[in-house]
Amino acid sequence: MPVSDPAAIHETPILIVGGGPVGLGLAADLGWRGVDCLLIEQGDGTIYHPRANTVNSRTMEFCRRWGIAKEVRESGAPPDFPPTIVYATSLAGYELARIERPTHGGHRPLPTTPERSQRCNQIWFDPILRRLAESHSSARLRYNVRFESFAPVTDGVITTVTDLASGRREHIAARYLIDCSGGHAGIGKTLGIRQEGRPVLSYHLNIFLKIKELWNQHDKGKAAFYFFIDKGGDYGSLIEIDGNELWRIGVHGPEYRDEPSEEQIRSVIARCFGKAIPYEIISARRWVCRDLVADRFQAPPIFLAGDSVHQHAPSGGFGMNTGMGDAVDLGWKLAAAVAGWGGPGLLASYEAERRPVAQRNVGEATDNVMRSTDPALIEKIELPTPGGDAARKQIGKDIIENRAKTFISDGIALGYRYESPIVIPDGTPPPPDSVMEYHQTSRPGSRAPHAWLAEGRSTIDLFGKGFVLMRFGADAPNPAGLVVAARERGVPLEVVNVGNPAIAELYEQPLVLVRPDGHVAWRSAAAPGDPLAIIDRVRGA
Ligand SMILES: Cc1cc2nc3c(=O)[nH]c(=O)nc-3n(C[C@H](O)[C@H](O)[C@H](O)COP(=O)(O)OP(=O)(O)OC[C@H]3O[C@@H](n4cnc5c(N)ncnc54)[C@H](O)[C@@H]3O)c2cc1C
Repeated sequence: MPVSDPAAIHETPILIVGGGPVGLGLAADLGWRGVDCLLIEQGDGTIYHPRANTVNSRTMEFCRRWGIAKEVRESGAPPDFPPTIVYATSLAGYELARIERPTHGGHRPLPTTPERSQRCNQIWFDPILRRLAESHSSARLRYNVRFESFAPVTDGVITTVTDLASGRREHIAARYLIDCSGGHAGIGKTLGIRQEGRPVLSYHLNIFLKIKELWNQHDKGKAAFYFFIDKGGDYGSLIEIDGNELWRIGVHGPEYRDEPSEEQIRSVIARCFGKAIPYEIISARRWVCRDLVADRFQAPPIFLAGDSVHQHAPSGGFGMNTGMGDAVDLGWKLAAAVAGWGGPGLLASYEAERRPVAQRNVGEATDNVMRSTDPALIEKIELPTPGGDAARKQIGKDIIENRAKTFISDGIALGYRYESPIVIPDGTPPPPDSVMEYHQTSRPGSRAPHAWLAEGRSTIDLFGKGFVLMRFGADAPNPAGLVVAARERGVPLEVVNVGNPAIAELYEQPLVLVRPDGHVAWRSAAAPGDPLAIIDRVRGA
């Protein structure tokens, strides 16, 4: 790339394009690690319309690590707001089913995690991440700066950006470029990366509303979600945003391909409510539901994360959470590469670890959105007759049997695991991959289990900055070989001795090596014969 004035080139080791939750999460993680990075975002950071609500328990664990879990918990609905799902023909119509979510919301820890899933909309979540990132001096965030193009150079890329306030073009030289633009910056396209799947599953309209004490104006009680099915089939949803007066209606259909009229918007609201309820419209926005996973997540030194490489139906609330997993997988690997102890295979393992997770989550999200109701029952859904009662009862039964996993997905949140060249398998078979249930295991590749070491202190609080070698019981093998090998390679490693036999049992082996992202890299009953080989493998050498 011809740059006439080399002085006009700014430098950063890591340039992040896009300040949505994934870019912000990555900047926050790098900042927390003390790694220099620059994030550019074309907008000013204001969020006008609420998208993601569900911050799942794994993302909450990342927030715990970064010190913002309390703020996230306290930013959505009050802790006693029921996370309940109600299915009905409309707010004033027949109730069809009710799904309770025992692992969602509130503060009480679960046996498998200190952090329950929360409902904290991006209108609060993104600014919390932004404040976190900005609190670290090594993370710089520039708003109103648009990425335009990049050109590869020997030791990285040189990008061209526009400062939208001044209109000035600038160049930024970076060793690594991370696309967190939701795919909008066109970086993947330039690299020839293909999005596989269906670019259009359905057209949607979201209406953001203010309604005072809605729960006093119908008979379904307080709930986090109301889903509506009438004789036209599944037609919409109403979602609590702040547990007070903010709500979002969502409807779908080919008619929402085009901008809706005000009359159309009001008729959607009337159908969902089924009776006159006063409301104020804040905004209405169309969006397209997709089912896409990129065929590549990287073309080093460029890596792509979040919606840039996977776009989900929002059913299940997986999209942003999957992207946060990408950010955390990249964070420690980028830090290791910049620090010099990460081998070439470390960053290269990103795609092998994250693409299968994206495929699993996108597939599940699409399955969720495809579930529909038996047309023979739908015909009778609104009949005020015994036949109508019987149809509604059957529909309710089907919903509970087939749709609960849309809303209870602890296995999706916590049970994903990595099989990659930097994870050392121990020959044990993988546990069943369940959407709804999560069973803790220290099998290599899995999230290392949670147990309380002391009041308020979880095993997962040990993980984050470097590797941790967990050593269980007084008779556990001597870790000295691994400690010396890590020191020789400059890999940060801490040994933690745990005497509690219940935790030793949970961790299954007396030596368990946990990566900075909290996933198990290696475990064994004996000290390794060649500790350098273990350290080299897990650092991607
Ligand atoms: C209705 C709805 C409900 C949802 N609910 C959930 C949920 O409950 N849970 C969940 O996990 N997910 C949910 N999602 C999905 C979630 O919103 C997305 O997965 C998430 O926002 C993706 O984050 P991202 O940072 O990858 O991309 P984005 O949020 O799209 O952010 C990308 C950023 O990049 C910026 N950008 C783009 N181009 C450029 C450029 N050239 N230069 C500089 N900046 C640029 C954009 O301005 C934007 O700020 C929902 C989505 C929708 C539509």
